Amino acid sequence: MELCDTPIHRLHAKRLAGEISTADIARSVIQRLETVEPTIRAFVTLTTDNLETNARAVDAKLARKETVFPLEGMPITLKDIFCTQGVETTCGSEFLKGFVPPFDATVVARLKAQGLNLVGKTNMDEFAMGSSTENSAFGPTRNPWDTSRVPGGSSGGTAAAVAAGEALGGIGTDTGGSIRQPASFTSLVGLKPTYGRVSRYGMVAFASSLDQAGPLARDVTDAALLLGAISGQDPRDATSSVQPTADYTAGLSGDLKGVKIGLVKEFQTGALDADVEQAFAENLRVLRSLGADIVEVSLPSLQYAVAIYYILAPCEASSNLGRYDGVRYGRRDPDVNNLADVYRKSREHGFGPEVKRRIMLGTFALSAGYYDAYYNKAMGLRRWMAQEFEAVFSQVDFIASPTSPVVPFKLGEKLADPMQMYLVDAFTLPANLAGIPGISVPGGFSGQGLPLGLQLMAGRFQEARLLQAAFAFETAAGHHARRPPLK
Ligand code: GLN
Repeated sequence: MELCDTPIHRLHAKRLAGEISTADIARSVIQRLETVEPTIRAFVTLTTDNLETNARAVDAKLARKETVFPLEGMPITLKDIFCTQGVETTCGSEFLKGFVPPFDATVVARLKAQGLNLVGKTNMDEFAMGSSTENSAFGPTRNPWDTSRVPGGSSGGTAAAVAAGEALGGIGTDTGGSIRQPASFTSLVGLKPTYGRVSRYGMVAFASSLDQAGPLARDVTDAALLLGAISGQDPRDATSSVQPTADYTAGLSGDLKGVKIGLVKEFQTGALDADVEQAFAENLRVLRSLGADIVEVSLPSLQYAVAIYYILAPCEASSNLGRYDGVRYGRRDPDVNNLADVYRKSREHGFGPEVKRRIMLGTFALSAGYYDAYYNKAMGLRRWMAQEFEAVFSQVDFIASPTSPVVPFKLGEKLADPMQMYLVDAFTLPANLAGIPGISVPGGFSGQGLPLGLQLMAGRFQEARLLQAAFAFETAAGHHARRPPLK
């Protein structure tokens, strides 16, 4: 296995043992990037100029026997939704083209404190709205497992980059599945933490009550390392939690003896791809073989997840995106005669079709005559869902489901029909609506060799236990070891 395909924690062990240098790792990543990026197109901005120099500085520290963090100098990528001081941040939108933030998001600052070596900013659906990365103003990213297919979304660029060995790990965001679904589509581990576990400061807002940042990684141990680096309370985000964080890599061992896992009755009725159904059945066999007790649970509210989410997320988006007025930052249309023109034309030309659809949906649902019928109703159902989850987590430790009802689809396949695209999120939306953590672990492959994911959800702030269960599954199933067939 080449260095650029190896998990971070293994590379760290090797460099501590003096078998490789951090510069070797950086060179391996750059070489891979040069080979595959023209096809994969995972990046919006590359910051590779200093990648090797930064790595050498870490090697110098190692030579002086100074302590080095596992992540220090390791080539990492960030979804282009995180503000990076001095590095363009577009959020996949024409509107923010050329926007260079004067500050770092807290996630970025925390990674820098651990020696971030940034490969670049990765492609995404515009303002994180989408499930395929086809809604990017900078063109689609391709799935390294099959370049005629999408890598999922909205963190599809980050997922594709990590899967292809163009970065060793990445940070994405998940409002309704945007970390877990691309992880599933590219055979990575993707973790959406509890709402409030990670600071949202400096993360471009889509739906503020649902947005969370989290890792996309080669394996569970790397995901645990990355989560440990970015999580924790932040005075700049009032919704970030004071709950202490843990060393999430500690305790990654063992089986699932005495663990109860729930299967959601209401999930099984959905239309699953045959391959997904088969892989999920196999995943359950693995969980059972590890000692888990699998029981059926019922959460009737989950039938309404897609409807609830596609009211609430657009409502919040329509409000959040009001800031793009052509005055404060980002794009201003050149051809304007008065203030109304500045707003209208900047927004008309700056936003893509999906973003406009969400703004219209949200504005409609929040309008005086419809506020109670849509927004308030959806809020009530959301509370019901959170209560149902709480009740179920007093009976079981985790809930298991496929991450996505479908395998990675072809570019263009679902673009014409937004409803088809929205339905892809059926299994991931509930964790965001309830604020609970969810993880996607490589769950196997379809007959055609396309990746599939197993999702596990847990109660609030149970990330450590979730990672332990995911680790036990990963070790027994072994799907994470397979790498995409890159040319
Ligand atoms: N696919 C969902 C949407 O389009 C979720 C996106 C996300 O998690 N950012 O809204």
